[in-house]
Amino acid sequence: MSKELLDENKDLRRRLTAVMANARHNEERLRRFHEQELRLLSASGLIDLLRHALVGHRQVFGLETVTMTLIDPEYEMQRLLADLGCSDGFPELRFIDSGTELAAFFGAAQLPKLGGYRAEQHGALFHLGPPPASVAVLPLLRQRHLIGSLNLGSIEEGRFIPGSATDFLERLGAVVAIGVENAMNHERLKHIGLTDALTGVHNRRYFDRRLIEEVERVQRTGQPLSCLFLDVDHFKKVNDTYGHQVGDRVLQEVAARIKAQLRLSDALGRYGGEEFAALLVQTDAEQALDIAERIRAGIAAEPFRLGGDHNLVVTMSVGMSILGAADCGADLQAAAERLVAQADEAVYKAKQGGRNRVERTE
Ligand code: GH3
Ligand code: MG
Ligand code: MG
Repeated sequence: MSKELLDENKDLRRRLTAVMANARHNEERLRRFHEQELRLLSASGLIDLLRHALVGHRQVFGLETVTMTLIDPEYEMQRLLADLGCSDGFPELRFIDSGTELAAFFGAAQLPKLGGYRAEQHGALFHLGPPPASVAVLPLLRQRHLIGSLNLGSIEEGRFIPGSATDFLERLGAVVAIGVENAMNHERLKHIGLTDALTGVHNRRYFDRRLIEEVERVQRTGQPLSCLFLDVDHFKKVNDTYGHQVGDRVLQEVAARIKAQLRLSDALGRYGGEEFAALLVQTDAEQALDIAERIRAGIAAEPFRLGGDHNLVVTMSVGMSILGAADCGADLQAAAERLVAQADEAVYKAKQGGRNRVERTE
């Protein structure tokens, strides 16, 4: 073989090696992207999804900053996250009331915006940590409707260059948007299944679930748990006198007044028709009796205004029981049942004692 041919051969081999290395690099990138996509699409709930989208993206794509902006005018997502006990779990996530500014930022094209970081344009999107050097801001769209943005920031100036191809980022934005919607639907369904439709407070299913969790917490932390059972007095008479619909409105107002006296960490459930049950976490007997009395007084003192001439005095009987670490025992289910049975017994005692009062079992 001539020397020229040998040289050409060598050169071709070198180029082939480079092309293959590049292909392997792209394949690896695609594989990581694909895995990340699957994680986003199979997220089991909102918290899981946010973890993958915010923390996961930073790791998978080697970025310094990943934040997300979500348009939440009715505070629905914020309420769901609070219910999940995760109000401030994701500092990278920011909610905005209106999407007007964000829509203007993306313009009619609704495409990812790449380029150098400009404080006046990007400051609100990258609200966390030191400002990046270059950024890619991806619109999150569902059926062409803007629901927020995913904001990627790199300290490398040349990482995101205006005018470069954005198919990969468009796809990432689409997958994250689907993931957010999936997770929201999942949480909504769960929420509906655990909420009482008439009063908006939790239902018995939720209460029973929380009860076990809270009894476990007593055993773990040694902090007492108090339980209140609350039953409307002579409620049948309200229905019989004013009709079922007025009765329903009374139940709604009763639920709201009880809730107003509880903390966010407490649990309130509609236990039966006109019976509610509350769990007061880390609350001893004295504090629980105090809260029970405030609830009772808050209902009895102020007549219910139900429109028209219906100004109705409503009262409730309340039973209180308490579980301390010492009386937990090994059988937590039994301890939970005992706590509820004792509160129920205490309500009975309050009814026997003349109603509109708080009682506890000895
Ligand atoms: P007590 O003081 O002993 O508790 O008397 P009460 O009349 O409150 O108790 P009782 O258990 O006899 O009656 C409860 C009534 O609550 C009977 C039922 O028709 C009514 N009820 C149950 N669920 C609902 C509801 O969702 N809406 C309305 N309007 N009434 C309901
Ligand atoms: Mg009852
Ligand atoms: Mg009753």
